[in-house]
Amino acid sequence: MSTINQSGWRPTAPEAGESSTATFTGNRALMLEEPLIFEIGSSDTTGVDFAEAPKAASRLGGLERGKAIGLPGLSEPETVRHYTRLSRQNYAIDLGLFPLGSCTMKHNPRLNERMARLPGFADLHPLAPVDTVQGALEVIDQLAHWLVTLTGMHAVAMSPKAGAHGELCGVLAIRAALEAKGEGHRKILLVPISAHGTNPATAAFANFTVEDIPATEDGRVNLEALKARLGPDIAGVMITNPNTCGLFERDMKAISDAVHAVGGYVYCDGANFNAIVGRVRPGDLGIDAMHINLHKTFSTPHGGGGPGSGPVVLSEALAPYAPLPFVEKTEDGYRLVEEETAGEHHAGSFGRMVAFQGQMGMFTRALTYILSHGADGLRQVAEDSVLNANYILRSMEDVLDAPFANSGPCMHEAIFSDDGLPEGFSTIDIAKGLIDEGYHPMTMYFPLVVHGAMLVEPTETESKAALDQFIGAFRSVAARAKNGDPTIKTAPHFAPRRRLDETLAARKPVLAWKEPVAEAAE
Ligand SMILES: *Cc1c(COP(=O)(O)O)cnc(C)c1O
Repeated sequence: MSTINQSGWRPTAPEAGESSTATFTGNRALMLEEPLIFEIGSSDTTGVDFAEAPKAASRLGGLERGKAIGLPGLSEPETVRHYTRLSRQNYAIDLGLFPLGSCTMKHNPRLNERMARLPGFADLHPLAPVDTVQGALEVIDQLAHWLVTLTGMHAVAMSPKAGAHGELCGVLAIRAALEAKGEGHRKILLVPISAHGTNPATAAFANFTVEDIPATEDGRVNLEALKARLGPDIAGVMITNPNTCGLFERDMKAISDAVHAVGGYVYCDGANFNAIVGRVRPGDLGIDAMHINLHKTFSTPHGGGGPGSGPVVLSEALAPYAPLPFVEKTEDGYRLVEEETAGEHHAGSFGRMVAFQGQMGMFTRALTYILSHGADGLRQVAEDSVLNANYILRSMEDVLDAPFANSGPCMHEAIFSDDGLPEGFSTIDIAKGLIDEGYHPMTMYFPLVVHGAMLVEPTETESKAALDQFIGAFRSVAARAKNGDPTIKTAPHFAPRRRLDETLAARKPVLAWKEPVAEAAE
């Protein structure tokens, strides 16, 4: 195999005796090696030609840059090819099934994209006069109405820009409500161990103390343990439902009642709403605040840190503390309620989560998705996502340990563990094996309550044929691990990179490119 040598990006030819399948370029057919842009670029190449600047006396008082800033210079075709090659190294939902549990990587209907790109939505300026953007405000208001109706809640804060950001919004509303009642001394948020990792992180970030609540054998919140911990120091609970084990928390109403009885509030992590949309109204379960990941339940492209949107539905008790701004329908059209215009009625608002109104592109996509599905179509989303996950669970349980297989049907994701794999084989081997099969791996080692967890979420947008092909690959890889096949320990064999030192990458990340120092001649 040729290697990228130290002094530059140019590969070295395969050495004599190396496999005859090694290539000079390092490329493998259409799988193209791509160096860093700094390694390709040179300061004497540029994609644009500027005329020499006219001589003028400097007015920078000696602060002019003394040497080149070290940006890579590339011609236009070099630049285009660099980014096109990089883009081909992505795995994407548009390429294949993306079983990344907890992330709801569903197909993004192209209709959403058409709508989001309409200039009237896409080219708005957040400070445009309100009477020129009435249509956009109507989109926000209509979407808000759907979210409130689907969840059976009282109000919704639209502006948070991700699930975790929505959690922060909800928890800040809880804090504001407690302080308004003179109960700011309640500092403890109870978080079951089956909660998503962002829940305790959010609670801590908002200055609450986090206490764990254990799970029962069957993977749900231990109601008795929770009740035993309730008291006057408890601000509330944060519960992920359906939880990260892919199970519905059946005791949710009992949990809410118990928490309310001691004066606390109930936060529900609703990122998994996909599994219950149209079937369960969280408001009926006594929830006070819940974020919805528009970028999961209502499609819209995400992953790799792409744009998200995490509106938070609120109970009547928390609605007065909602962040500003929000859209209000009046007789003369839509208006934005902001600090200057809020008045008495919204004086309790805890403040602002974002500079403007939130993610307009996500709002447009989500509303398009909702309107094109309709109420019955959304219910079908939940049913099909649960059906698909159970199909995977039941198709795999004879080759992989499924710790909650006896806890009833799973919701929209199926969970497996590395129990029963031979010594030396683990979840990571199965994940790497799936890469060779052309799939992005499932979520691994999460949730923490399951040893060597593999969390698989197919979503409702996969056909039975696509599920069968994935199951075939997953079964084959799992069987290889189970039989101790040594070749799976070195997978992936067909990817541009094999096994990386992930610990080193996490502990000592190299975040900036440095020009390699020329090695001294021997
Ligand atoms: C995705 C997810 C989150 C976080 O959402 P982001 O938009 O990534 O911040 C929180 N909880 C659960 C259960 C999730 O699946």
